[in-house]
Parts: sequence; structure tokens; C-alpha cells
Amino acid sequence: MGLATAQGSTPQAPTQAVAPTQAVAPAQAPTAARGVLGIDIGGTKVALRAEDGPPGGPVRTEEAVLRWPGARVAGAYADWTALAGTVADLRERWEGDFAAVGVAVPATVGPDGRVLAWPGRPGWRGFDLLPALRRLFPTAALAWADDGDLAALAEAVHAGSGNVVYLGVGTGIGGGVVHEGAPLPGPGRGSCEAGHVIVDRSGPVCDCGRRGCLQATASGPATLRRAELLLGAPVEYAELRTGLAEGAPWAVEAVEETCAALAAAAVSLGELFHPELTVLGGGFAEGLPGFTARVEAHAAALARPGVPAPVIRPAVLGGLSSLHGALALARLQPVS
Ligand SMILES: [Zn+2]
Repeated sequence: MGLATAQGSTPQAPTQAVAPTQAVAPAQAPTAARGVLGIDIGGTKVALRAEDGPPGGPVRTEEAVLRWPGARVAGAYADWTALAGTVADLRERWEGDFAAVGVAVPATVGPDGRVLAWPGRPGWRGFDLLPALRRLFPTAALAWADDGDLAALAEAVHAGSGNVVYLGVGTGIGGGVVHEGAPLPGPGRGSCEAGHVIVDRSGPVCDCGRRGCLQATASGPATLRRAELLLGAPVEYAELRTGLAEGAPWAVEAVEETCAALAAAAVSLGELFHPELTVLGGGFAEGLPGFTARVEAHAAALARPGVPAPVIRPAVLGGLSSLHGALALARLQPVS
């Protein structure tokens, strides 16, 4: 199964403006270090997990979660200072450095390592992300990739399948396609942006400025906005979950629209790639009762003669798919 693309990119400039997977040369000679660290950078929080141990043997782990301290439009520097503090704490608990670090990145990052766009935290635009990562981990083997692509790879590994579509519902919608064991579209050719697949030309305006993208209808915030309109009052996630469990019409309608949009995207991707499995993940989807079954029902209604509806399953790794993908990416890095 092909995580090999993670090794495929070296620090040379890719031909495209966007490079989904990059290894970054160490800035200093490696010191004594052990284990791998995975970092999943998200719109509201960052999850970190360090692992060490022989394959199949006991694994030592340390974990940390950082909630971004500033508003989503705040600059990246306050966020990054907080992350540096979290890494320092984790390093202290780890009692040493990490041999390799893999990072799941939701932002669009240019070949020079600068953030080109991140609708989830617009204040990061222009931030020199990869140099900042290198300063945080000056001796580790370091690589990064799009969070949706890494989630897809992690889920494909766990499912034992080489043909998987992954859709992760959170602050935005991340996604990835693993085809014949390899992630699409491939190293140096951008990332799989399932959240910007157009599912409704008359739909709401997306963060990207276009109308009708999947995530404009089906992301967590989009679903909550719809629930608020239907209820006529502010709605928190916990209320939506309770409302859905109790069958409240406003909650059911808000979530059904989300599930119908996800089904449309899953069926469209199925027409192109014929995956063995379509996996639904992300923290927002994970917490809502019956979410996967609702998407599967909408997808079944879109089946056509001779083409069965996609098999849709919840993510095995839950909301941790990207983090496990980041750990898998770290393990692939050559450590001297
Ligand atoms: Zn969009």
C-alpha cells in the first residue's frame, strides 16, 4: 500500500504551485532522538501524538491537544507561539527529541512553504509555515502533507484496501482518494480537495468565494448555520446532537441536507474512481448519531442501473484519521 509518495518528494521545488507532500531537509545534524511525532493541525485545535516502540510490541505514547488561543482571523504568530509551547511541554515529557515528525496541514501551501490560503484561519495567509516547522524541529526528519490526503491513507491502511475515498467533516471538509494504493492526484500535483467539489450550482457561497462547494453545505459550521436558520435561534453542536437524537425537525432537516450533499459527492467520486470503500470521518460527523446511515441512504437513492451505490462506512480511526496519517508519514521518513 502506497505511502511511498511521502518519500517521493524532496526539497526541490515542485512544478506545481501547490505541493501536497514534502520532506524538508534537517537544518542541523541529528542528535540522539527516538520515536515519531504526528501533528494534525486543524481549524480550531492541534492534536499531537508521539509513539515509540518495536513493530507489534508495546508502544510508548505521549499526547497533547492545543486549542488555538486566538480568533480564527487572528494572525498566525500567536497561534504558532502557543504551538511552540505545547511542543516544548511534550518534548519535556518525552525526555528527548523526536527522530521524525509528520504534519497534517489543512492550508494550501506554496512550494516555498508559505501559506497561500486557509479559509479555516484566514490570518495564516502569508505565514512561512515550513520554515517555522523546521525551527520547531531542527534535527528531526520532517515531512508534511495535506490533512485529507493523510486521513485517506491512514483509513485505507486500516481497511486493508487500496481503493478508498475519504470525506472528513469538520470545520471544513477534507478528503482524499487512494487509488490502486496510491493517493491522488500524486506528489507535486496538488491535493485532493473534495470539500470544493461542486454539489449544487445554486448552493451557498463557499469560503473560497465560489458557489455550491460541498463544504459550503456540509461542513460543521455550514450545518450549524442551517440549523440556526431553521430553529430561529443560536445552535451549539451539543444542541444539534441532542436535537437529532430526539428527532427534532429543525435538527433532522439541517443534518439531512448535509448528508444529501455528502452522498452526492460520494456518488460522483464513485463514478470516477469506483472505490471499494467510502469512509466518512471528521469530528463533526463522528459525534452525530446515525450520520453514516443517513449518508448511505441518500447515496443508495442515487444508484443507477448497473452501478451500485458506494459502500459507506464510518472512519475506523474516528476524528484521529489525519493524526494517524501524520504518524504514518513520519514513520516513512529516513532517519539517520
Ligand atoms: Zn469552495
